[in-house]
Amino acid sequence: MGRRIVDYEKIVGKEKIEEIKQRAHELRGLSVLHVNSTLVGGGVAEMLQSLVPLFNDLGINTRWEVIKGTPLFFKMTKGFHNALQGDGLNSGEAMLERYLEINRRNAQLLDFNSDIVIIHDPQPLPLIMSRTKGRNRWIWRCHIDLSSPDKEAWKFLSPYVERYDIVVLSMPEFAQYLPIPQDVIPPSIDPLSEKNKDLPENKVREVYRKYKIPMDKPVILQVSRFDPFKDPVGVIEACELVRKKVACSLIFAGGIASDDPEGAEVLARVRERANGDPDIHIIAPQSEPIPDVEVNALQRGADIIVQKSLREGFALTVTEAMWKGKPVVGSNVGGIPLQVTDGVTGFLVRSIDETAERITFLLHNQELAVEMGEVGREQIRKKFLITRQIKDYLRLMSIIAP
Ligand code: UDP
Repeated sequence: MGRRIVDYEKIVGKEKIEEIKQRAHELRGLSVLHVNSTLVGGGVAEMLQSLVPLFNDLGINTRWEVIKGTPLFFKMTKGFHNALQGDGLNSGEAMLERYLEINRRNAQLLDFNSDIVIIHDPQPLPLIMSRTKGRNRWIWRCHIDLSSPDKEAWKFLSPYVERYDIVVLSMPEFAQYLPIPQDVIPPSIDPLSEKNKDLPENKVREVYRKYKIPMDKPVILQVSRFDPFKDPVGVIEACELVRKKVACSLIFAGGIASDDPEGAEVLARVRERANGDPDIHIIAPQSEPIPDVEVNALQRGADIIVQKSLREGFALTVTEAMWKGKPVVGSNVGGIPLQVTDGVTGFLVRSIDETAERITFLLHNQELAVEMGEVGREQIRKKFLITRQIKDYLRLMSIIAP
């Protein structure tokens, strides 16, 4: 990737980068292993793609491994994901045993010989059972909304969580009763990645032309995996209400992550609901993700970005939108209220009607919408860029390093 920490001086200032270098210097030579379940698609992979090279640049020897699973395994772990966010769990004993078995097999293929092992989310959670006696420290990094987990799912998973040295959550509201310490590190975006770097206007136009989306009327965009918790059908319904008052197009952009078996089903429902409407543009490539630079261009070309999730871990899509100076209409769930200041950088909403109302208001007040976007960009610069997350990880590592 070739990205270096000094490249961020121009974005966050020399002082912040010096502070990071100083903290990293104290940890030089430390080795860290990250394990998750997909190389592309979704927020975790997105962050690791930037964190891993930057930590290596800072002298922290950092590796990233991805566990291998079968379609059934990922169907099950998606069930866990949903259950931890409050859905009921419907996995039989045989399925739970399969989940553990796949983790045992992955454990045999992985080299855990690092000072700090960071396991992301529930898919590889039971890898902790393969921890051998030694001085290394294990972190469970949970990115999902744990505020009201299904009791059954938590009862099954928490004995594994308790074997870790520490749990890291995205928000304090996700904390659970656990006999181990819990820390909070909010996620972040990389302003220099293909997804977020500045783009010339002609690149934005080129991408809109490619997908045959006219730019002569306002564009509303939601970028999300095709997941029921992202409520894509709700977005379409809200935009239908908006279009009774103001002409606009809706883009729903979402690839399908390899660890997300629900995608095809939800996409089919979205297509059915859109019913061939020429003002609804569904961008959903089947075999590969939408290239990051295209997501970037779609976000930059939009007038308003929506994130109408029913449950949400953090919503990096909101961070990305705000960094691009866009007002966001987002549900008041998970990490969205941590990012969007209601009435200042966008609006927090609780229903389809309210989503439609707020979008319509912004379309009628375009100058205000632009101002909100500008304020949002500065808030992201202060709180949610990757340099802040690196600093948080360094703080944690310096406390727990063996
Ligand atoms: N994303 C993407 N293409 C897609 C869907 C999502 O690149 O088709 C990216 C999106 O830009 C963001 C991340 O995946 O960087 C999604 O993270 P978020 O926290 O919003 O949601 P998650 O998918 O982790 O629930």
